[in-house]
Amino acid sequence: SRRFFVGGNWKMNGTRESLAELMTHLNTSNLHEQTEVVCGAPFVYLDLVRSGLDPRIGVAAQNCYKVSRGAFTGEISPAMIKDCGVDWVILGHSERRHVFGETDELIGQKVAHALENDLAVIACIGEKLEEREAGTTEEVVFAQTQVIAENVKDWTKVVLAYEPVWAIGTGQTASPDQAQEVHHKLRAWLRTNVSDDVADSVRIIYGGSVTSLNCRELASQADVDGFLVGGASLKPEFVDIINARA
Ligand code: 13P
Repeated sequence: SRRFFVGGNWKMNGTRESLAELMTHLNTSNLHEQTEVVCGAPFVYLDLVRSGLDPRIGVAAQNCYKVSRGAFTGEISPAMIKDCGVDWVILGHSERRHVFGETDELIGQKVAHALENDLAVIACIGEKLEEREAGTTEEVVFAQTQVIAENVKDWTKVVLAYEPVWAIGTGQTASPDQAQEVHHKLRAWLRTNVSDDVADSVRIIYGGSVTSLNCRELASQADVDGFLVGGASLKPEFVDIINARA
C-alpha cells in the first residue's frame, strides 16, 4: 500500500512562459488521485511554480546546500526553499554527482540537513554503464544507499530514486525486469540494514528515459513505486506517466 509517486525533474529547462503553459496543462488535467505528484523546478522559478501549480501537486528544488545560511555564494539553503512554500528537494542526482563532482559524503550531509529542516527528500542513486558491465551494480547502489541511510532518521520523508546513469537522457530505458531486480534488492537491503517497516513503506521509484510508452509496464512491477521523469516531464505526456497505475 505504498502510494504511487511520480516526480518530474525539469532540470535546467523552462522559461516563465513555457512553465506557465506546462502548469496550466497539469492543473487542468485529470491526475489520478492515488498518485503523489511532485515537480522539480529550477531555483529561480520555485516561487512562480509554487504559486502557479495546484496545491495538490508538490514542488521540489533540485539541490540545496548543507547549512542554513552564511558566506556560501551561489548556494541555496533548505530554509530558503521552505520559505518559498516548497516541501521537497532532489538530492544526489546523477548530474550533481557526475557533472558537478558531488561526493557521497556531501550528499549525505545535504540529506541530513534537508531532513532536519523539514524538507522531504528524493534521494537518487544509480550505477554507471561501466559499473553495470563490470557486475558491480549492487555494490554501487548499496554503498550509495548506505551513506543516505546513515543520514536519515525519519524515513517517512524520504523517497529513494533508482536512476541508472546509462538510462538517463539516452532513450535506453531499463527493462521492467532490470528495474524490478534492482528495486527488489534495494528493498531487501533496507530490510536487513534499516527495518522491516522501512523496507515495506519506503517508495523506490525508477528514473531514466521513462515515457508514456514504457511507463505502464514498469509501473506494474512489484517494487516499482513510481518514477522520476526528466525529459518527458516537460511535455503533455507527463500526465500519462502520472496516470500509469490508474
Ligand atoms: P530522463 O527522463 O530525461 O532520462 O531523465 C531522468 C532523470 O534524470 C530524472 O531525474
